[in-house]
Amino acid sequence: MFPSVSALQTLLAQPRQVVITTHHKPDADALGSSLAWATYLKKKGHSVTVVTPSDYPAFLNWMEGNDEVVVYEPLHNDRQVQDLVRRADVIFCLDFNCLARINELGEYVRAAPATKVLIDHHQRPESFADLSFSDPTAAATAELIFEIIRALGDQALLDQGMGEALYAGIMTDTGSFRHPSTSRNVHLIIAELLDTHIDLAAVHRRIYDSHSEIRLRFLGYVLHDKLVVRPEFRTAYIAVTRDELRAYDSKTGDTEGLVNYALSIEGIVFAAVFIDRGSAVKISFRSVGDFSVSDFSRAHFEGGGHHNASGGISHEPLDATVNRFLGLLPDYQARLVSTLSTAPVAVAPPVA
Ligand code: 5GP
Ligand code: MN
Repeated sequence: MFPSVSALQTLLAQPRQVVITTHHKPDADALGSSLAWATYLKKKGHSVTVVTPSDYPAFLNWMEGNDEVVVYEPLHNDRQVQDLVRRADVIFCLDFNCLARINELGEYVRAAPATKVLIDHHQRPESFADLSFSDPTAAATAELIFEIIRALGDQALLDQGMGEALYAGIMTDTGSFRHPSTSRNVHLIIAELLDTHIDLAAVHRRIYDSHSEIRLRFLGYVLHDKLVVRPEFRTAYIAVTRDELRAYDSKTGDTEGLVNYALSIEGIVFAAVFIDRGSAVKISFRSVGDFSVSDFSRAHFEGGGHHNASGGISHEPLDATVNRFLGLLPDYQARLVSTLSTAPVAVAPPVA
């Protein structure tokens, strides 16, 4: 499957000091694959610390190993994190493709003497790693973690905690098994994870049905008052201001999934959500069919990601950002109008 498996085996043949890191504002795939990989490496006798470049939503705090995660806070634990990164023998970079995605941590990782290993499924990875497991056809990094553990001959080490973390990553990154990335292999892996006695309903509930009352009201407000639909471009978008985030006491993760509501309108093939984070406007893009939001965000908003799910950033004010976005739509109108609502099915490489 991966040419680098034997190199990884050699690298892990003796006990190592390991740091695992993942992208800014980790999602279920980022955190789930990091924690499952951490548990695996600990079982193999390594010393492992998971370091996240920022905090993450409370609906992810149930995963095995969560309590030991070091959340990087520049004003509080900069020295501790720098030391961890500098002293590591191996640094695993999971679920991101360029060091800019881990903010200040990126420069620490770049400068570290450790062997760097990328495990990721985003398109066009930057080449900073010594060993790379990059497969943009994979539905989730969690899928790759499963494949790598299996290729290392250690599937028997999978336990329920690892299984639930990996399941959460695959479930969320496939949009609950509906995106075109949901290959036959994905379902076969889920079958293997079921053998670890994962509680499917509990994982689903912890992630999707754990709203606070105010978060649900925020969702209602946004959908009622803030959703803009532009049928002539088959596009829908939502822009959320600082004041609105404050009024609804918005916490990390509260805006996650908003973009999917915009995309759920019949006939809409392109959706965007703009969140004013103060220092910058963070943007999420989604599409259905052959319109590439990865190309769109890379071309216009310093971003990237996947064909149908990407993100980007804007350093202009919120209004100016939205206006720039609207100004771009006519250039894409022909493509948006003619886009098919089904994407080419990702063909996974044969499993070795
Ligand atoms: P989300 O909208 O859920 O934040 O991100 C969707 C996808 O795009 C994820 O796979 C994420 O890793 C990627 N992504 C989000 N923001 C950025 C960004 O600023 N740059 C790049 N290269 N990818 C991003
Ligand atoms: Mn992912």
